Amino acid sequence: MTMYDALTARYTFACPRRERTQVALSSFRLLERLPGAAHPAVYRVSFDCGCGDEHPGLVSHDDLDWAPLGAHAGAFIDLMTSRTSDAAGELLDLTASHLKAGEWPWTFYCYPEARARPVFPSSFVAVAPGERSLGLAVRCPACSALSVNLVSRSHVDVPFANDDRIGVVDHVFADDALRTVAAFHAELHSARFDERRLHLN
Ligand SMILES: [Zn+2]
Ligand SMILES: [Zn+2]
Repeated sequence: MTMYDALTARYTFACPRRERTQVALSSFRLLERLPGAAHPAVYRVSFDCGCGDEHPGLVSHDDLDWAPLGAHAGAFIDLMTSRTSDAAGELLDLTASHLKAGEWPWTFYCYPEARARPVFPSSFVAVAPGERSLGLAVRCPACSALSVNLVSRSHVDVPFANDDRIGVVDHVFADDALRTVAAFHAELHSARFDERRLHLN
């Protein structure tokens, strides 16, 4: 299982060529929740490695959603009260102050609902690197529809660094549309984007 380093915002994975490699969330290409393992949930990902290849990896739900917020595996944040555990460090304090201010670590624009939604990385489905921005496919936690946003790298990698304006592909994707990186790239090249502001009300 992978490890997350909150100071460098990198996940450590095994690489067949270099033994270990460290990659940011934006280097993930496909994410899929494994059936069965529910406690804790485990996600199968593929990621672009520094060695030039794409590798598979496994990430626990905790590491995917909570580790970037500075939580150790199992650390507890109560989102209703924004209270953190006593063992929390500076990163957790920072997270708590953001949450109190009504800011969410990750947001995306849900196309069918025509609104911004808070989200966690476990709802990310695919990431496609582009020249200036990333294509980010997200399964909406509220309505389950698949939307594709064009965002900055830091929007994905840095919690609370949400882009002000993003691009939104102007159609709903079929459930199986983005099963491969190649299919996602093809969709992005043929897609039209509308600009939207990412404001959570
Ligand atoms: Zn590698
Ligand atoms: Zn939605």
